[in-house]
Amino acid sequence: MDHFLYRNGVLHAEDVAIPAIAAAVGTPFYVYSTATLARHYRLFQEALAGMDHLICFAVKSNGNLAVLKVLGDLGAGMDVVSGGEYRRAQAAGVPGNRIVFSGVGKTREEIRLALEGGIRQFNVESEPELRAISEIATALGVTAPIALRVNPDVDAKTHEKIATGKSENKFGIPIAKARSVYAEAAALPGIDVVGIDVHIGSQLTDLEPFRAAFSKVADLTRTLRADGHNIRRLDLGGGLGIPYTRSNEAPPLPLDYGQVIRETVGDLGCEIEIEPGRLISGNAGLLVASVIWVKEGEGRDFLILDAAMNDLARPSMYGAHHDIIAVAEPVPGGPTQPFDVVGPVCETGDTFARARELSLLAPGDLVAFRSAGAYGAVMASEYNTRPLVPEVLVAGDHFAVIRARPSFDEILARDTIPVWL
Ligand SMILES: *Cc1c(COP(=O)(O)O)cnc(C)c1O
Repeated sequence: MDHFLYRNGVLHAEDVAIPAIAAAVGTPFYVYSTATLARHYRLFQEALAGMDHLICFAVKSNGNLAVLKVLGDLGAGMDVVSGGEYRRAQAAGVPGNRIVFSGVGKTREEIRLALEGGIRQFNVESEPELRAISEIATALGVTAPIALRVNPDVDAKTHEKIATGKSENKFGIPIAKARSVYAEAAALPGIDVVGIDVHIGSQLTDLEPFRAAFSKVADLTRTLRADGHNIRRLDLGGGLGIPYTRSNEAPPLPLDYGQVIRETVGDLGCEIEIEPGRLISGNAGLLVASVIWVKEGEGRDFLILDAAMNDLARPSMYGAHHDIIAVAEPVPGGPTQPFDVVGPVCETGDTFARARELSLLAPGDLVAFRSAGAYGAVMASEYNTRPLVPEVLVAGDHFAVIRARPSFDEILARDTIPVWL
């Protein structure tokens, strides 16, 4: 459920009419609902109720400071994958003891930044990284809490570009090798081994890969405890999928996901961490665009929007489906026609949908892409020197621009022509 509904024939974000935002901000823009963000966060809280837990929002899915503040104020932790995301979490007011640092290529500078600013735990992905953390922590005179990210060799059955839990993927330490790396970690100065981390992929629509991975983590917990390690925290990653269409998809509910966690690791007495991104932010956002032209092609009509692949990369990058709806509510049973929905960028890959059945739209009409709150604005670029798409946050009957559209002058001012040219 989200808070983007038609009222009096016009699409609203909570109590704000989308055309009112378009008039104030111009198109294209992203708009997020605080009520939907909060609702999704609470679904995970309910799913893990009664277990000692921390829900660490995956900042990479939507890193806007205002979005992070909404979640941080509800008590969420943050899962960051770069020094920049660490700074975002800090700037949103989230204390270091609620920030976990994931990612396969942390640099020494990023490790130092997190150790100086405070960190709940590093999810360590390799032995060289482990040794670097030990060196830097020792030099700073601090202790680094760590979990090793293990690769459980489980097929997440999702898009190959976002599957991370198979042995051929770059992520984690092979689970068969975990015992020896834990032994090394325990012997290193400046390192406190607190737990185990796993993350098998994103947009999972089946619970069985989670069950398989978490069961392996449970077995490993027992083994490592027998080896003398004080395993007290399990980070089970993110990845729960969302419905991208209203018609035929019904991914598992957070409550059922919570049940899998209870059944697999619930009896170990560990604190549970999860790192959901998409499920919290995905359906909390729309991308709103205007129709520039309707162009008649051969055997098809093109709906040319002012949003493009640089604003929302998922369709061109993953072949992803987003529902596209008219902001003016279509008359039930009214006329429709198939459109190829495209952007203005000079690539054929700049195609959002083919033969999508939509109401008869005309230049100037507004459309909205649903499920655009995760991996939308964060993946945007200024390809074709299209200004970075702005973001808007709605709460009840008010809204605010939470990232402004840069002017052409601001864009050009970032480049420098050397004096010797
Ligand atoms: C991407 C990622 C997540 C979030 O995945 P979602 O599918 O958005 O829930 C969590 N943890 C790690 C380590 C990730 O890389």
